[in-house]
Amino acid sequence: QKVGALRELAIGESRVSLTPDSAVQLRKLGYVCFVEAGAGEAAGISDAAYRAAGVTVVADAAALVAASDVIVKVRPPTTAEVDLLSAGQTLISFFHPGQNGELLEQARSKGANVIAMDMVPRISRAQKMDALSSMANIAGYRAVIEAGNHFGRFFTGQITAAGKVPPARVLVIGAGVAGLAAIGVAVSLGAQTYAFDVRPEVAEQIESMGAEFVYLDFDGGAQQDGAATGGYAAPSTPEFREKQLAKFRELAPQMDIVITTALIPGRDAPKLWLDDMVAAMKPGSVVVDLAAERGGNCDLTVADQKVVSDNGVTVIGYTDFPSRMAAQSSALYATNIRHMLTDLTPGKDGVIVHNMEDDVIRGATVTFEGAITWPPPPPKIA
Ligand code: NAD
Repeated sequence: QKVGALRELAIGESRVSLTPDSAVQLRKLGYVCFVEAGAGEAAGISDAAYRAAGVTVVADAAALVAASDVIVKVRPPTTAEVDLLSAGQTLISFFHPGQNGELLEQARSKGANVIAMDMVPRISRAQKMDALSSMANIAGYRAVIEAGNHFGRFFTGQITAAGKVPPARVLVIGAGVAGLAAIGVAVSLGAQTYAFDVRPEVAEQIESMGAEFVYLDFDGGAQQDGAATGGYAAPSTPEFREKQLAKFRELAPQMDIVITTALIPGRDAPKLWLDDMVAAMKPGSVVVDLAAERGGNCDLTVADQKVVSDNGVTVIGYTDFPSRMAAQSSALYATNIRHMLTDLTPGKDGVIVHNMEDDVIRGATVTFEGAITWPPPPPKIA
């Protein structure tokens, strides 16, 4: 069968879902690969590079979809893209079915089988295709680099002939995949790094990375008011939130860089870095808000913008961090896609076996044979 990668249409989207390397691997699975002309350009991959890897370059989206059994892309498809699909074709991309009800119905009515990369269950076996994690890892890394770009000082402390420089102080709020990546980079650049999360189980990991976990004095020392199932955070109680905010107020004047990544599944981002905390920061400090797309953790955040507060604090709300490292994110995303296809191709014969008995495939499938299959039943293994 044939796998075809569409060119991304969203403004500012530079990633691509197929790379020459992943195409070589897909060929070993028995697939013939196609790519829409120019699809890799923004990620630094020319059509010639695809051709050199044995990929056929197709002029436009309509021709690409017509030529392919499996269509892969990064962003959720547009309605025009879904319109090109026909019964029995498989689409693999981010889809966010919870936010894209109409698109889901449209895909169903077309008879296309849609696998949503954002719905891959977060179990060990599926880590290799967990694109949310691979992209969050890049976002966390890039957040620190972006902060450094707007910060006028070193991260690391130095004693030089020209004077003694203290290390930068970095606070990371939310230590999920992106937060842990940010902590790793900040520590490795030599910053004095602090991290906070409502889930106390990450404390050990944070400390083993060389950062300091910020504890709250709550109920005699316990950090959290209960982590939700599946390792995700639950909304905090008002009492806990007050303690947390009081702690942040205390830390604000000392922090040079604050990176916020706090999210709770299915909700707007909690507001954690408030106006008065920004006002208490030193001029030249930087806040990078990785939760900007979901409303932001910082009061001042404007999605896709960089704003400077009255007291000279830069607040960055970009939502395209993975795209800012498009070569890297495309390589990892294309690998996630390739692993998904590996699981879908048990015979390594270029033939999709869409096994709805498989927890991972079932969990990620949002439309199948004319039916909406989202949300999935709870997985059998945890
Ligand atoms: P996320 O992006 O949903 O949230 C980011 C972080 O924000 C989380 O650590 C969360 O606890 C934290 N947070 C929420 N509210 C907060 C608040 N008020 N103050 C401070 N922090 C707050 O998280 P994620 O990166 O998707 O990871 C969520 C969980 O899933 C983690 O436990 C992670 O280890 C787990 N996970 C498991 C797998 C796997 O097993 N394959 C893969 C990825 C993630």
